[in-house]
Amino acid sequence: MPTPSVHKKGKLYLLGAGPGDPELLTLKAARVLKACDVVLYDRLVSPEVLRYARRGAALIYVGKHEGEQEQTQQAIFELIVRYAGEGKSVVRLKGGDPLVFGRGAEEWIRALEHGIETELVPGISSALAVPALAGIPLTHRRVSRSFAVITGHQRQDVDWRQYALIDTLVILMGIKNRVAIANGLIRGGRRPEEPVAFVQRGTTASEAVLEATLEDIATDRTHPQRPAILVVGEVVRLRQQLISAPARSEQCHGET
Ligand code: SAH
Repeated sequence: MPTPSVHKKGKLYLLGAGPGDPELLTLKAARVLKACDVVLYDRLVSPEVLRYARRGAALIYVGKHEGEQEQTQQAIFELIVRYAGEGKSVVRLKGGDPLVFGRGAEEWIRALEHGIETELVPGISSALAVPALAGIPLTHRRVSRSFAVITGHQRQDVDWRQYALIDTLVILMGIKNRVAIANGLIRGGRRPEEPVAFVQRGTTASEAVLEATLEDIATDRTHPQRPAILVVGEVVRLRQQLISAPARSEQCHGET
Protein backbone atom coordinates (compact mmCIF):
# COMPACT_ATOMS: atom_id res chain seq x y z
CA MET A 1 0.00 0.00 0.00
CA PRO A 2 1.45 3.40 -0.93
CA THR A 3 2.27 5.49 2.10
CA PRO A 4 0.40 8.79 2.09
CA SER A 5 2.76 11.66 1.29
CA VAL A 6 3.48 13.64 4.40
CA HIS A 7 3.50 17.29 3.53
CA LYS A 8 6.46 19.09 4.99
CA LYS A 9 5.49 22.47 6.34
CA GLY A 10 6.88 25.46 4.51
CA LYS A 11 8.90 28.17 6.12
CA LEU A 12 8.01 31.75 6.97
CA TYR A 13 10.47 34.56 6.45
CA LEU A 14 9.70 37.80 8.27
CA LEU A 15 11.59 40.02 5.94
CA GLY A 16 12.43 43.72 6.07
CA ALA A 17 12.10 45.56 2.76
CA GLY A 18 14.03 48.64 3.90
CA PRO A 19 12.77 52.21 3.83
CA GLY A 20 11.88 52.56 0.13
CA ASP A 21 14.98 52.76 -2.04
CA PRO A 22 15.41 49.16 -3.31
CA GLU A 23 19.19 49.47 -3.03
CA LEU A 24 18.71 49.52 0.72
CA LEU A 25 17.48 45.93 0.66
CA THR A 26 19.96 43.57 2.31
CA LEU A 27 21.76 40.88 0.30
CA LYS A 28 20.03 38.29 2.43
CA ALA A 29 16.59 39.76 1.75
CA ALA A 30 17.28 39.71 -2.00
CA ARG A 31 18.46 36.09 -1.84
CA VAL A 32 15.39 34.93 0.11
CA LEU A 33 13.02 36.81 -2.21
CA LYS A 34 14.62 35.17 -5.22
CA ALA A 35 13.81 31.71 -3.85
CA CYS A 36 10.35 32.14 -2.32
CA ASP A 37 6.93 30.90 -3.47
CA VAL A 38 4.64 33.52 -1.96
CA VAL A 39 5.14 37.17 -0.96
CA LEU A 40 2.64 38.85 1.35
CA TYR A 41 3.51 42.53 1.18
CA ASP A 42 2.53 45.75 2.94
CA ARG A 43 1.56 49.19 1.72
CA LEU A 44 4.96 50.70 2.45
CA VAL A 45 6.89 48.23 0.29
CA SER A 46 8.01 49.83 -2.95
CA PRO A 47 7.19 48.08 -6.26
CA GLU A 48 10.89 47.98 -7.17
CA VAL A 49 11.55 45.70 -4.20
CA LEU A 50 8.92 43.25 -5.45
CA ARG A 51 10.93 42.81 -8.64
CA TYR A 52 13.44 40.84 -6.59
CA ALA A 53 10.86 38.12 -5.97
CA ARG A 54 11.27 34.89 -7.91
CA ARG A 55 9.47 34.95 -11.24
CA GLY A 56 6.33 32.91 -10.76
CA ALA A 57 6.05 33.67 -7.06
CA ALA A 58 2.57 34.77 -5.96
CA LEU A 59 2.64 38.43 -4.93
CA ILE A 60 -0.23 39.19 -2.56
CA TYR A 61 -1.00 42.67 -1.27
CA VAL A 62 -2.12 42.63 2.35
CA GLY A 63 -1.89 46.33 3.25
CA LYS A 64 -4.00 47.45 6.17
CA HIS A 65 -6.61 50.15 5.96
CA GLU A 66 -7.66 52.29 8.85
CA GLY A 67 -10.43 50.73 10.91
CA GLU A 68 -9.95 47.22 9.60
CA GLN A 69 -6.48 46.46 10.89
CA GLU A 70 -7.58 43.59 13.06
CA GLN A 71 -9.52 41.78 10.33
CA THR A 72 -6.62 42.23 7.94
CA GLN A 73 -4.16 40.98 10.53
CA GLN A 74 -6.27 37.86 11.01
CA ALA A 75 -6.58 37.34 7.24
CA ILE A 76 -2.81 37.72 6.83
CA PHE A 77 -2.25 35.14 9.45
CA GLU A 78 -4.64 32.70 7.80
CA LEU A 79 -2.73 33.11 4.53
CA ILE A 80 0.56 32.39 6.26
CA VAL A 81 -0.85 29.21 7.83
CA ARG A 82 -2.45 28.09 4.56
CA TYR A 83 0.60 28.57 2.34
CA ALA A 84 3.09 27.25 4.87
CA GLY A 85 0.75 24.26 5.33
CA GLU A 86 1.04 23.61 1.60
CA GLY A 87 4.82 23.40 2.02
CA LYS A 88 5.46 26.77 0.41
CA SER A 89 8.14 29.19 1.40
CA VAL A 90 6.36 32.37 2.43
CA VAL A 91 7.88 35.83 2.65
CA ARG A 92 6.06 38.29 4.87
CA LEU A 93 7.53 41.47 3.46
CA LYS A 94 7.31 44.54 5.64
CA GLY A 95 8.52 48.10 5.16
CA GLY A 96 11.73 48.96 7.00
CA ASP A 97 12.49 46.43 9.72
CA PRO A 98 9.80 43.82 10.53
CA LEU A 99 10.07 44.30 14.28
CA VAL A 100 9.84 48.10 14.35
CA PHE A 101 6.12 48.94 14.66
CA GLY A 102 5.31 46.27 12.11
CA ARG A 103 3.50 43.70 14.25
CA GLY A 104 6.25 41.35 13.18
CA ALA A 105 6.70 39.93 16.65
CA GLU A 106 2.99 39.01 16.82
CA GLU A 107 3.20 37.14 13.53
CA TRP A 108 6.38 35.43 14.64
CA ILE A 109 4.79 34.21 17.89
CA ARG A 110 1.66 32.96 16.13
CA ALA A 111 3.70 31.18 13.47
CA LEU A 112 5.68 29.36 16.16
CA GLU A 113 2.43 28.44 17.92
CA HIS A 114 1.36 26.78 14.66
CA GLY A 115 4.67 24.96 14.37
CA ILE A 116 5.76 27.00 11.36
CA GLU A 117 9.51 27.44 11.16
CA THR A 118 10.24 31.15 11.02
CA GLU A 119 13.31 33.14 10.13
CA LEU A 120 13.79 36.85 10.66
CA VAL A 121 15.58 38.87 8.00
CA PRO A 122 16.10 42.34 9.48
CA GLY A 123 15.71 45.40 7.31
CA ILE A 124 17.00 48.95 7.45
CA SER A 125 14.36 50.80 9.41
CA SER A 126 12.93 54.02 8.05
CA ALA A 127 13.35 55.37 11.59
CA LEU A 128 17.12 55.45 11.04
CA ALA A 129 17.60 55.74 7.29
CA VAL A 130 14.91 58.28 6.39
CA PRO A 131 16.19 61.10 8.64
CA ALA A 132 19.81 60.22 7.79
CA LEU A 133 19.36 60.41 4.05
CA ALA A 134 17.52 63.69 4.46
CA GLY A 135 20.61 65.10 6.17
CA ILE A 136 19.45 64.71 9.77
CA PRO A 137 21.82 62.65 11.93
CA LEU A 138 20.06 61.26 14.99
CA THR A 139 23.13 61.71 17.14
CA HIS A 140 25.97 64.20 17.09
CA ARG A 141 28.64 64.53 19.75
CA ARG A 142 27.76 68.12 20.61
CA VAL A 143 24.07 68.24 19.72
CA SER A 144 22.40 64.93 20.52
CA ARG A 145 23.49 62.06 22.73
CA SER A 146 20.24 60.15 22.73
CA PHE A 147 17.29 59.45 20.50
CA ALA A 148 14.00 57.64 20.85
CA VAL A 149 11.77 56.17 18.19
CA ILE A 150 8.13 56.50 19.16
CA THR A 151 4.75 55.85 17.62
CA GLY A 152 2.35 58.72 17.05
CA HIS A 153 -0.58 56.38 16.63
CA GLN A 154 -3.38 56.66 19.22
CA ARG A 155 -1.48 58.67 21.79
CA GLN A 156 -4.25 60.28 23.83
CA ASP A 157 -3.23 59.22 27.32
CA VAL A 158 0.51 59.64 27.10
CA ASP A 159 2.65 61.31 29.70
CA TRP A 160 4.68 63.48 27.34
CA ARG A 161 7.13 64.46 30.09
CA GLN A 162 8.93 61.19 29.53
CA TYR A 163 10.13 62.53 26.16
CA ALA A 164 11.33 65.92 27.39
CA LEU A 165 14.89 64.84 28.19
CA ILE A 166 15.62 62.79 25.10
CA ASP A 167 17.68 64.87 22.67
CA THR A 168 16.16 63.64 19.40
CA LEU A 169 12.69 62.21 18.89
CA VAL A 170 11.81 60.21 15.81
CA ILE A 171 8.05 59.88 15.51
CA LEU A 172 6.54 57.31 13.17
CA MET A 173 2.86 57.18 12.21
CA GLY A 174 2.46 60.65 13.69
CA ILE A 175 1.00 62.68 10.82
CA LYS A 176 -2.66 62.38 11.70
CA ASN A 177 -2.12 63.24 15.37
CA ARG A 178 0.66 65.76 14.82
CA VAL A 179 -1.12 68.74 16.43
CA ALA A 180 -1.90 66.80 19.61
CA ILE A 181 1.60 65.32 19.70
CA ALA A 182 3.29 68.71 19.36
CA ASN A 183 1.07 70.23 22.03
CA GLY A 184 1.78 67.28 24.29
CA LEU A 185 5.53 67.62 23.80
CA ILE A 186 5.41 71.34 24.60
CA ARG A 187 3.30 70.69 27.70
CA GLY A 188 5.75 67.97 28.62
CA GLY A 189 8.63 70.44 28.63
CA ARG A 190 10.05 70.72 25.10
CA ARG A 191 10.67 74.21 23.72
CA PRO A 192 8.05 75.55 21.27
CA GLU A 193 10.82 77.00 19.08
CA GLU A 194 12.59 73.65 18.83
CA PRO A 195 13.31 72.74 15.19
CA VAL A 196 11.41 69.87 13.61
CA ALA A 197 11.33 68.26 10.19
CA PHE A 198 8.86 66.04 8.40
CA VAL A 199 10.63 63.78 5.94
CA GLN A 200 8.00 62.71 3.44
CA ARG A 201 8.43 59.66 1.16
CA GLY A 202 11.99 59.33 2.43
CA THR A 203 14.69 57.60 0.35
CA THR A 204 12.50 57.73 -2.77
CA ALA A 205 12.78 59.97 -5.83
CA SER A 206 9.88 62.08 -4.56
CA GLU A 207 11.29 62.71 -1.09
CA ALA A 208 10.38 66.11 0.34
CA VAL A 209 11.37 67.69 3.63
CA LEU A 210 9.28 70.19 5.51
CA GLU A 211 11.16 72.12 8.20
CA ALA A 212 9.31 73.99 10.92
CA THR A 213 9.17 74.40 14.69
CA LEU A 214 7.26 72.47 17.30
CA GLU A 215 4.98 75.47 17.71
CA ASP A 216 4.19 75.53 13.98
CA ILE A 217 2.90 71.98 14.28
CA ALA A 218 1.04 72.68 17.53
CA THR A 219 -0.85 75.53 15.86
CA ASP A 220 -1.62 73.40 12.79
CA ARG A 221 0.51 75.37 10.37
CA THR A 222 2.19 72.35 8.79
CA HIS A 223 0.55 70.03 6.28
CA PRO A 224 2.82 67.10 5.54
CA GLN A 225 1.91 64.17 3.35
CA ARG A 226 2.15 60.50 4.27
CA PRO A 227 4.22 58.52 4.66
CA ALA A 228 6.35 60.83 6.72
CA ILE A 229 8.64 60.73 9.70
CA LEU A 230 8.71 63.58 12.17
CA VAL A 231 12.08 64.42 13.70
CA VAL A 232 12.17 66.74 16.70
CA GLY A 233 15.42 68.17 17.95
CA GLU A 234 18.41 70.44 17.39
CA VAL A 235 19.92 67.90 14.97
CA VAL A 236 17.44 69.18 12.38
CA ARG A 237 19.61 72.30 12.03
CA LEU A 238 22.56 70.20 10.85
CA ARG A 239 20.63 69.46 7.70
CA GLN A 240 21.56 72.77 6.11
CA GLN A 241 25.24 71.81 6.35
CA LEU A 242 24.76 68.24 5.22
CA ILE A 243 22.42 68.51 2.30
CA SER A 244 24.01 69.74 -0.88
CA ALA A 245 20.82 69.69 -2.94
CA PRO A 246 18.55 72.35 -1.41
CA ALA A 247 16.20 72.01 -4.38
CA ARG A 248 14.77 68.94 -2.69
CA SER A 249 13.77 70.79 0.42
CA GLU A 250 10.79 72.91 1.28
CA GLN A 251 10.38 75.51 3.92
CA CYS A 252 7.67 75.59 6.55
CA HIS A 253 4.08 75.93 5.36
CA GLY A 254 4.92 74.53 1.94
CA GLU A 255 2.54 71.87 0.70
CA THR A 256 3.87 69.09 -1.43
N1 SAH B 1 8.65 48.78 10.15
C1 SAH B 1 8.76 50.09 9.55
C2 SAH B 1 7.86 51.10 10.22
C3 SAH B 1 6.38 50.77 10.14
S1 SAH B 1 5.38 52.05 10.81
C4 SAH B 1 10.22 50.53 9.57
O1 SAH B 1 11.05 49.94 10.27
O2 SAH B 1 10.53 51.47 8.83
C5 SAH B 1 5.01 52.99 9.39
C6 SAH B 1 5.58 54.38 9.51
O3 SAH B 1 6.93 54.40 9.10
C7 SAH B 1 4.91 55.42 8.62
O4 SAH B 1 3.74 55.90 9.20
C8 SAH B 1 5.98 56.48 8.55
O5 SAH B 1 5.99 57.26 9.71
C9 SAH B 1 7.24 55.65 8.54
N2 SAH B 1 7.80 55.44 7.19
C10 SAH B 1 8.06 54.25 6.62
N3 SAH B 1 8.65 54.41 5.42
C11 SAH B 1 8.79 55.74 5.24
C12 SAH B 1 9.34 56.54 4.21
N4 SAH B 1 9.88 56.02 3.11
N5 SAH B 1 9.31 57.89 4.36
C13 SAH B 1 8.79 58.44 5.46
N6 SAH B 1 8.24 57.74 6.46
C14 SAH B 1 8.25 56.40 6.36
